[in-house]
Amino acid sequence: MGESTLEARLEALRVEVTKANKLLPETGLVTMHSGNASGYDPESGMLVIKPSGMDYDRITPESLVQVHVPTGEVIGSSLRPSVDLPHHLFLYRNLPGVKGIIHTHSNYATAFAAVGRPVPLVLTAIADEFGAEIPCAPYIDNEGEHIGEAILKYRNRSPAIIMGNHGVFAWGDSPKSALKAAVMTEDVAKTVWIAMQIGEPKVIPAEEAEKWYDRYHNRYGQS
Ligand SMILES: [Zn+2]
Repeated sequence: MGESTLEARLEALRVEVTKANKLLPETGLVTMHSGNASGYDPESGMLVIKPSGMDYDRITPESLVQVHVPTGEVIGSSLRPSVDLPHHLFLYRNLPGVKGIIHTHSNYATAFAAVGRPVPLVLTAIADEFGAEIPCAPYIDNEGEHIGEAILKYRNRSPAIIMGNHGVFAWGDSPKSALKAAVMTEDVAKTVWIAMQIGEPKVIPAEEAEKWYDRYHNRYGQS
């Protein structure tokens, strides 16, 4: 592959990751600097991620920090990457096919984190997107690869997980699909929370959930 193709691909990735980061406050998932988005190009082994502490409205494709995933080395940027870089690195190294990761402290999902409870599979929307309850890992400190290891240990087929007392990690085959998983996590957490004010939400049996998941992932949309 030519150098120019690689450059064009990484530039397109920077544009997409910029968009995903800007949509975090716009979709109400983060306030101030409490979330981040990254994208990964497996062929070159490069990720691009939000710079640490930068206001979302100041993020440009050029401001994103490029990191070589196998070594963790920052390439050609004087800005520091998000402090959550180690978790993004760990997930790209260990989840084949993942090319986008989002981390947020979105309110309703993080309320489940505060009480250490998963978002139960009580809506067809949860069956569609997640195919399982959205699991909740126990509290984990932020040292080294602890968060990444816990995500691997406690995840199920769902493209999102709630980290106990902390917030949400969501992923997908692009930054856009990771953002969708993060937005859907907050949306269903909100609906389930409202349901819990009325009564006890009813779990959808696994075989029924499977029908919804299968249709959504294999037959939905325009192919
Ligand atoms: Zn966090």
